[in-house]
Amino acid sequence: MLDSSDGDGRASRISGMSVCAAAFLVLLVAAGPVLSHGGVRHDFRLAGGQWFDGEKFSPRTVYTVAGSFQDAWDGPVEATLDLSGKYVVAPYGDAHTHDLAGGANAEGRIRERLRSGNFYIQNTNNIPKWTEPFRALLNRPESVDVSYANGGLTAMGAHPIQIYDRVAERPPVPGWTKADMPDQAYFVVDDAAALDAKWPLILAGKPDFLKVYLEHSEEFSKRRSDPSFFGKRGLDPALLPVIVKRAHAAHLRVVAHARTAEDFRNALAAGVDQLAHLPLGLLTESDAKRAATAKVSVVTTTLGHWDREGMSDAAVDDFHRKNLALLAAAGVPVAFGVDGHPPLLAEVENVRRLKVFDDAALVRMLTQSTPRAIFPSRKIGCLAAGCEASFLALDGNPLEDFSNLGKIAVRMKQGFVLRLEPAEAAGRPAH
Ligand SMILES: [Zn+2]
Repeated sequence: MLDSSDGDGRASRISGMSVCAAAFLVLLVAAGPVLSHGGVRHDFRLAGGQWFDGEKFSPRTVYTVAGSFQDAWDGPVEATLDLSGKYVVAPYGDAHTHDLAGGANAEGRIRERLRSGNFYIQNTNNIPKWTEPFRALLNRPESVDVSYANGGLTAMGAHPIQIYDRVAERPPVPGWTKADMPDQAYFVVDDAAALDAKWPLILAGKPDFLKVYLEHSEEFSKRRSDPSFFGKRGLDPALLPVIVKRAHAAHLRVVAHARTAEDFRNALAAGVDQLAHLPLGLLTESDAKRAATAKVSVVTTTLGHWDREGMSDAAVDDFHRKNLALLAAAGVPVAFGVDGHPPLLAEVENVRRLKVFDDAALVRMLTQSTPRAIFPSRKIGCLAAGCEASFLALDGNPLEDFSNLGKIAVRMKQGFVLRLEPAEAAGRPAH
């Protein structure tokens, strides 16, 4: 892909890189010549490709200058990347995962994400002590960018405590028990006094955003102290506005878990920034308009609804189809999230199956709405001049054959060309 001006000189530049960069190179590169230029970013001319404009692909010549796209550049370029026959899109995002949160094979999992074009990741509940070893490997040009919630805020005996109780039975990090989970995996805040008490601890973990849990909030009083609803309840919806106000004052976005349509409404009323799921209940046109006005984004997780409380597949599809149509008509940004482990494109395919969106809209959601929903202040999810120089060059047009989204020939992130070893050699994660 790189032309001849980018030939032998490259190996000598690798030998000059810092120890730190060299170590990272080992993680991500096998036979390929380079991952990056040893921490030094060069400018490229990108010629011959067809670039996605939101609706279709058209030819452009683009420059990457100091890690950003430019339409023109008079200065020297390191090389011309020949993108003839390639279709250029912005990299993909996954706005709801619990991956990259601890345990083994960090490098392999990062590599897998980069290989599949998934550069932007939002982890919506993680144990910060487990995540800590990952942090040094992330959020740099040669790696994936991850935003972490740390432990979410919930009520006594509420979701997701039942999940972390189970995780503690076979913890991926040895030595952890149920008793270690509070104030790491989740924070119990039953009232304003508890919020006051926990707040310094929550901030001390340096979350990138805050996760809050609503679960059948229409039955909050009925469920709050009934043991048969252990794990099937959430925060007091009356407390949520207090949490959101406090989070916003600390410059933290708030992402809400919601199961029912009433949860969705309560989250909106409280002023959250994002809904982490589509509700398994019917929204109204005014709900959708309210979300659009408040610039709230909604994450799909259609494959992640494993606890459907007896709902049939057809009923779940019906809710998703109707709610997505309402949200789209109102102009609410819809982001993809797997709520589990990759493949991200399986979630995209599942939403495609519902036939609410045409393929151009799905590509926009995957490459524009989702990255921006994860990192709203960055110039990502775009290919225009001034945007971060990050892209995927596909072997075919995804608007002609949707599976081309998985055929990635070239990956650039913030001006660095990523070179990854072949999939067979990398070893896929075990889960
Ligand atoms: Zn989740």
